[in-house]
Amino acid sequence: MLELRPTCEHCNRALPPASTEARICSFECTFCAGCVERVLGNVCPNCGGGFAPRPVRPAHDRRGGNFLGHYPASTVVKHRPVDAAAHALFIATLAGVPPDAR
Ligand SMILES: [Zn+2]
Ligand SMILES: [Zn+2]
Repeated sequence: MLELRPTCEHCNRALPPASTEARICSFECTFCAGCVERVLGNVCPNCGGGFAPRPVRPAHDRRGGNFLGHYPASTVVKHRPVDAAAHALFIATLAGVPPDAR
């Protein structure tokens, strides 16, 4: 199940469960949309994969108890700012390979 991490790993901006600005890679590395676009170039600094919008877990029990109340978001902050110069070099090694071919 998705952890729904509380903040952007780079800028530490709050990304509450209902945020439409949260982006995740397949390992759930979590960043805000702004950092994915302007800092990361859609390359996860931890795995090299691309990002997708994080789904919003329902806040209300619409069906079978599958909602935020029973499955709350993580409160564990992972703040590991990216070194922009090092990340630029990492991006360069991908030479424009799209996420589905990495
Ligand atoms: Zn951010
Ligand atoms: Zn990743």
